[in-house]
Amino acid sequence: MNCTDFLSQLTDYFDGQIPPELLEEVRAHLGECSHCRVVLNTTRQTIEVYRGNEIYDISDDLRERLHSAIMTKCLASKT
Ligand SMILES: [Zn+2]
Repeated sequence: MNCTDFLSQLTDYFDGQIPPELLEEVRAHLGECSHCRVVLNTTRQTIEVYRGNEIYDISDDLRERLHSAIMTKCLASKT
């Protein structure tokens, strides 16, 4: 699993709809990728804010912004 794969599973992860075998891969990736841990924490906090307003949905816009942020960081760390 890479960062792109992780991000594509992020909403399912929070929805609890991720298959157990995939969950293992997600957790393994989180163990080795600090960038995705930051994204996970940020997303969790965002969701909690939304939940407080009884809105529980990760918008495409948010997903897009998270995606570009993480990819920028990952690419920067590799070069
Ligand atoms: Zn990652």
